[in-house]
Amino acid sequence: MMSEEDSELPIWSYRVNLDKRVRSDHPLRRIRAALDLSFVRKAVAHTYGQKGNKSVPPEVIIRMMVLLFLDDIKSERELMRIIPERLDYLWFLGYGLDDQIPDHSVLSKARKRWGKEVFVSLFSQVVQQCVSAGLVEGSKIHVDASLVEANASLGSVKPLDPDVVKAIEQTAKEQIQKLDEQDDDQDPPNQGGGGPAGSSVGQYAKTNRQFRSTTDPDATLVRHGGLKSRLRYKTHRVVDDAHEIITAVETTTGAVDEASRLMELIEAHEDTTDQAVRTVIADARYGNISNLIGCRKAKIRAHVKLLGDSIQGKGRSEGIYSDDHFSYDPLTNTYRCPADEILKPRRLHPQRLTWEYVTAKGTCLVCKLRAFCTRSRTGRTIHRHRDQGLLEKARKIADSKTAKRDLKRRQHLMERSFADAANCHGLKRARWRGLWKQAIQDLLIATVQNLRKLVRYLSQSDPDLAICLLKLCHRLICSLPQQPIQILAN
Ligand code: SF4
Repeated sequence: MMSEEDSELPIWSYRVNLDKRVRSDHPLRRIRAALDLSFVRKAVAHTYGQKGNKSVPPEVIIRMMVLLFLDDIKSERELMRIIPERLDYLWFLGYGLDDQIPDHSVLSKARKRWGKEVFVSLFSQVVQQCVSAGLVEGSKIHVDASLVEANASLGSVKPLDPDVVKAIEQTAKEQIQKLDEQDDDQDPPNQGGGGPAGSSVGQYAKTNRQFRSTTDPDATLVRHGGLKSRLRYKTHRVVDDAHEIITAVETTTGAVDEASRLMELIEAHEDTTDQAVRTVIADARYGNISNLIGCRKAKIRAHVKLLGDSIQGKGRSEGIYSDDHFSYDPLTNTYRCPADEILKPRRLHPQRLTWEYVTAKGTCLVCKLRAFCTRSRTGRTIHRHRDQGLLEKARKIADSKTAKRDLKRRQHLMERSFADAANCHGLKRARWRGLWKQAIQDLLIATVQNLRKLVRYLSQSDPDLAICLLKLCHRLICSLPQQPIQILAN
C-alpha cells in the first residue's frame, strides 16, 4: 500500500531542528525547492495495492535516487548507510534523527514496480522548468552519444546456442530483405552502417549475433579507441545551445549506430521543449546521406561534418575522373562523360535510393579514356541520389562558415556535458543490468545535471530573489507554519 509522505518536517529531535541545521544556501535546499514531485504519486498509484504494509513514500524514493547520482554514491547500500550520518540528507529526504531508514532494496523494488516512464516524466518535468526559467532557447541543438561500460565482465560472454544464432540470422536476413523491397515512395532507410536502432540488424551485427553476455544480455560487444571489445551501452543526448541544458536522452545497446537516432532525438527534443529545431550540430558520425536529406526535408540546417561521399562508390582513387567530370542534364535526366558519351539511368538501388547511370553496352570497353575513368571491367557507373537536389543543398549548408564555427563550439560543449556526467555523476559505468535500467540511470544523471544548472542559474541571476522563491516553494511543499515569516521579508 502506498503511504502518504509526512509533509511536516520534524521540528524537535534531541532538541535539534534539522531545518535550522541545514544552511540557507545549501545546494540540497535549492534542489529540494526546485524538484517538483507533485506528479509522482499519481503516476505510480496504479502500481500499489490498497491493503498491506505502508510503503516508503514515492517522493522520498525519487529523492534518494537523486542523491545517489547527485553525489555519485557508489551503491544503494552505501547510500542507506550514510543517510543517518548526514543531517543534510535527512533533511532533504524529510526524515528526523530518530527515523528508521528503509532497507536499500526499496529502491530496486520501486524501479521494478514503476518502470522507466516515471523517470521519463521526472526528466521532462525538470526540462520544462528550465524552459520556463528561460534556460532553453530550443531552436539550436547539439547531438552526440557516449559509450557506457556495462555491469558485466567479458568472462560472462558466451557463444549463443546455434538455434538462437540461426533465428537471429534469419531475422536479420528478413529485415535486410524487407529494406531491399521497400517501395520507392517510402522514406530512405538509414545508411549509417548500423541499421535501425533497436532492430536485430543494428543490435546483433557481426560478433553480437553469435555471442551474448549471460549476466547482461542487453549489453553488446563494442570495440572503441583501438582497445579490446567490451560490453557496452550507448547513451544519446541532445543539448540545447543556449545554456547547455540536456533536452532529450535515449539509451540503446552499444552496437547501435548513433546516426540512426538523429531524427528521433530531434523529435524528442521538440516534444519535451515544445520548440521547433532550426539547426542541429553533430560530428561526422551523423553526417550520412539519410540524415542530411531527413534534416533538409524537415527544414532543419544540419551543421554536421560530412562522411565520405558514399554515393559515389568506393572505387574512386587518384587518377580516376571524379563525378565532377560528368555533366548532368536535368531535362533528359542523363549524364555526359568526358568522352562525350551519354550515361542513362539503369536502376534504382532500393536501399541506398541512388540511381545508377551507365553508358550503352560496350561503349566504355572501346573508349580511349577508359584508363582515366574506370577500373571496372564493364564500364563506368555514376550514382545519383533520388533526392540529389536536397542533398546538394544540405552539403552546402554543412560546408558553410557558420557550420564550421558551430562544429568548433560543439566539441567543447558536448565534451563538457559528458565529462561532467562521467566525472561527477557516474555515467562511465552502468550501476544495474538491463537496457531499461540503464535508461533510468541515464535519465537520472541528465535530470541531476539539469537541476544543478537550474538552481545555479536561479541563484546567479538574482540570488536574493532566487533564495526567497526557493524558500517560499519549500515552505509550500513542507507546510512549516512555525518557520519565521521574516525570512521572506529579509
Ligand atoms: S570510360 Fe566510358 S564513361 Fe568513361 S569516358 Fe570513356 S566512355 Fe565515357
